Amino acid sequence: MEQAQKRIYLSPPHMTGREMDYIKDAFDSNWIAPLGPHVDAFEKEVAAYAGVKGALALSSGTAAMHLGLKLLGVGSGDTVFCSSLTFSASANPIIYQGATPVFIDSEPQSWNMCPVALKMAFEAAENNGKLPKAVIVVDLYGQSADYDRILEICDHYGVPVLEDAAEALGATYKDRKCGSFGKVGVFSFNGNKIITTSGGGMLLSDDEDMIAKARFWATQARDPAPHYQHSEIGYNYRMSNLLAAVGRPQLEEIETRVEKRRSIFDRYQEALGSIPGVDFMPEASFGRANRWLTVMTLDPEITGLKPMDVIDELSQSNIEARPVWKPMHLQPVFQYTPFFSAGKKELGNGKEFFETGLCLPSGSSLSENDQEWILLFLQKCLQEKSDYIKVCRNY
Ligand SMILES: *Cc1c(COP(=O)(O)O)cnc(C)c1O
Repeated sequence: MEQAQKRIYLSPPHMTGREMDYIKDAFDSNWIAPLGPHVDAFEKEVAAYAGVKGALALSSGTAAMHLGLKLLGVGSGDTVFCSSLTFSASANPIIYQGATPVFIDSEPQSWNMCPVALKMAFEAAENNGKLPKAVIVVDLYGQSADYDRILEICDHYGVPVLEDAAEALGATYKDRKCGSFGKVGVFSFNGNKIITTSGGGMLLSDDEDMIAKARFWATQARDPAPHYQHSEIGYNYRMSNLLAAVGRPQLEEIETRVEKRRSIFDRYQEALGSIPGVDFMPEASFGRANRWLTVMTLDPEITGLKPMDVIDELSQSNIEARPVWKPMHLQPVFQYTPFFSAGKKELGNGKEFFETGLCLPSGSSLSENDQEWILLFLQKCLQEKSDYIKVCRNY
């Protein structure tokens, strides 16, 4: 019963053991600054991995989203289309730039932006005589969106894409890496992501002039003059050399981490997939997800359970689970924002995924024992309820 004592987290930081060597190197060279050799190397390594020409290491994925939108020219009075089913950091930078979001629903096969709903939104925008300035496409829970279809629509209207691949480092779409599909792309290295620098992010682009411009803004927009001269408003968004040192050894192990997270997913699916009413977030045939988080769904009619019932139950056994992201179009802060549903339901597929889905512990450091322990609890919790319902129905 020893396992029950310590809490099992959803996606805790996973250190390789080599981080301290890299940090020691940073200390020994006294590069304790928001720039330095580890930052330069980390940028090159991430760009090479994602298959893009340029990368800029920043203090967070959110900062990368913000500068990405600024690069695409998003400003006051503009509109930006954005996936609705996502974490708020996908959408908040639209507001930072004084622009207005329009939220787009998910398709069932990947839970990502529905190309049909996107097309409807474009047609409505065209009729109103005002196209969006950019489209933010999220690769949810580490699975790519359907880029061939989405880019075809966006190219038709001449509107650039910002790919929010914060959760999708290591995932692919038709054998090409996530993060490389937009005019600009974003990764996050927050504490819960597949690699972590405690906090951090990366902006990616094939356009090296864009990366240079973002680097300028991120470093307080200092004009090339010996005195402190500024012709533009800047930000203090650079990643520290110490934190880049933490990220580098983890990036070397990204493929093993993807394998591990995928095998964790498989194990949940094998053990629980045959219980009536239990299902999992699908993997679309066009890509290979990194399965950042395993998302399980519960049919409330069949299982008699809502995600929070199971989350509370697990929590009492010291196991952390979480609901699926609450879609942006259902958030109080965005209550008057337009939304394009993917189907007949006014509030979309996203609402259903939110109401039926929960995220299970998926960290690449999760031990077999711990997963076994989680499975025991889930089987008990799901099976008991299902037996109970069967009995009730027979009365
Ligand atoms: C984590 C995350 C972000 C933000 O990244 P931070 O590094 O935490 O600022 C943006 N979008 C999505 C989808 C995320 O999951």
